[in-house]
Amino acid sequence: MAKIDFSDGNAVVIIGSGAGGGTLAHELTRRGIKVVLLEAGKRQSLESFSQVPGEAFAQLTWLDPRTQSGDWRGARDFPPLPVWHCKTVGGTTVHWTAAAPRLQPWELRAKSIYGNVAGASLIDWPLSYAELEKYYEIAETRLGVTRRNGIPGLPASNNFKVMYAGAKKLGYKQVHTGHMAINSRSYDGRAFCIQQGFCIQGCKMGAKWSTLYTEIPSAEATGNLDLRIESTATRIEHGEDGRVNAVIYHDSQGREQRQKARLVCVAGNAVETARLLLLSESSKFPQGLANSSGQVGRNYCHHITGSVWAIFDKPIYSWRGATLAGVVEDEVVNQPERGFVGGYRMELLTLDLPTLPLVGLPYGWGRDFASIMENYRNLAGMFINGEDMPRSDNRITLNSNVKDAFGLPVANVHVDEHSNDQAMRKHAKGQMAKMYEAIGAQRVIPGPTPPATHNMCTARMSADPKDGVTNAWGQTHDIKNLFVSDGSVLTTPGAANPTLTIVALALRQAEHISGEMKAGKV
Ligand SMILES: Cc1cc2nc3c(=O)[nH]c(=O)nc-3n(C[C@H](O)[C@H](O)[C@H](O)COP(=O)(O)OP(=O)(O)OC[C@H]3O[C@@H](n4cnc5c(N)ncnc54)[C@H](O)[C@@H]3O)c2cc1C
Ligand code: SF4
Repeated sequence: MAKIDFSDGNAVVIIGSGAGGGTLAHELTRRGIKVVLLEAGKRQSLESFSQVPGEAFAQLTWLDPRTQSGDWRGARDFPPLPVWHCKTVGGTTVHWTAAAPRLQPWELRAKSIYGNVAGASLIDWPLSYAELEKYYEIAETRLGVTRRNGIPGLPASNNFKVMYAGAKKLGYKQVHTGHMAINSRSYDGRAFCIQQGFCIQGCKMGAKWSTLYTEIPSAEATGNLDLRIESTATRIEHGEDGRVNAVIYHDSQGREQRQKARLVCVAGNAVETARLLLLSESSKFPQGLANSSGQVGRNYCHHITGSVWAIFDKPIYSWRGATLAGVVEDEVVNQPERGFVGGYRMELLTLDLPTLPLVGLPYGWGRDFASIMENYRNLAGMFINGEDMPRSDNRITLNSNVKDAFGLPVANVHVDEHSNDQAMRKHAKGQMAKMYEAIGAQRVIPGPTPPATHNMCTARMSADPKDGVTNAWGQTHDIKNLFVSDGSVLTTPGAANPTLTIVALALRQAEHISGEMKAGKV
């Protein structure tokens, strides 16, 4: 592994080692570029992953303080964890359940297709699907996505068989075990999935793609990566010319360090990315870095989610099998006659026993609640992953009343749900309930909305600098050598789980950065 000097002003500094940052680190280092990768979390391994749910949660999750507001359930029921992501090498690709669908071409043109939706801040993406397609193909090969490139699908779990039977009764056609970044057979030096379940805890087989054991070791093998763990970036500095030139961070010993940089790429997951840009305000950039448009932190999206469970007369053992390996895709269409714009997927769901009552069931206690838990073996589950509407005031701001371990204001996450979101959720839950009823469920239990796991759009790409934070390469409109490289740059969320798109955009960004560096433009 490289050791890059603090005073080396030629290095690229990437903040965050998850889907975006980990992929970018590999892509730049394999092109011969020196990279310092700052990661706030520790480094785990297949051996050290705990499979005890509570322990795994503590081992991997970002638990630093945060606040929340607005009318969404995240504010009411999940203080202080309205948003769920990781703080560990590999970021949330350690926790993720690896559903890896693509956005539909029309989803990149949300404003043009949906028109003026009152109360929404929709814009079109500054790049076309045709421009993205090549990078989707590379990303799918890199991640070993099932049902692409001749890679077989994952086998059907009992939970999926129930979903399939219900979907077919309702006439759905696009029902399968998903495009999953989980090996259905050995691939890229990693083992195949043994269908053991509990993917969220960290896959001890390494069958599920994570930058922790793919992109990051590959980057280390180039000799160009200096990965610094337990290193939290607190400020990005700039010179008088307005170009960024260093990152201030706290290292594993709590010491403040300053790493010089030729270029900085922020990939801290959409909430922390926005926070860091806002924290880096200066007399030259009083609203925060890259924020002359005032768009940093705004338009926060996290997908419409919500679960539906059903109890059947026979055991299903839903936890056996890859957690999310099942999808109904027929509702990924824009049909305003349903009462909302945009589309949604219905995806398989199961939760481990301790987590189910915390995030998957309506809060309650007593005989009725206990009867659901007693039927855990006979429980099937699904959830909705739908496109939410960006809103200007759904945003990340700094809350100076609450400070983190370094004395800095924490992020406040504010969300007021759009009526389109509510209409879509109602429709999806109705369809999921009908699927279960159609095949004789004894009882259908509509679940609540869990904490947000897909954090997006807080530094969105835009053609017009007034509408967003970066251009189509994630390069900030205001500062040429400052990039955003994670889910923050998605212009709109579409109905696809976001990680494949984040990886595709990071691959595209790496090509652009290395070209610009070679040409001496950044
Ligand atoms: C339980 C769960 C299941 C999921 N399942 C799916 C799925 O099936 N499909 C899908 O597409 N997506 C899924 N996701 C979402 C997916 O994991 C994320 O969208 C994706 O990992 C986001 O990538 P990112 O690069 O934006 O951030 P992350 O992967 O979260 O990486 C950000 C990293 O930055 C670090 N960081 C933050 N701030 C700082 C700082 N100041 N200094 C240093 N480091 C910092 C964090 O510690 C973290 O490691 C799931 C998420 C969860 C929680
Ligand atoms: S079910 Fe498959 S992908 Fe999930 S944790 Fe087990 S081996 Fe890994």
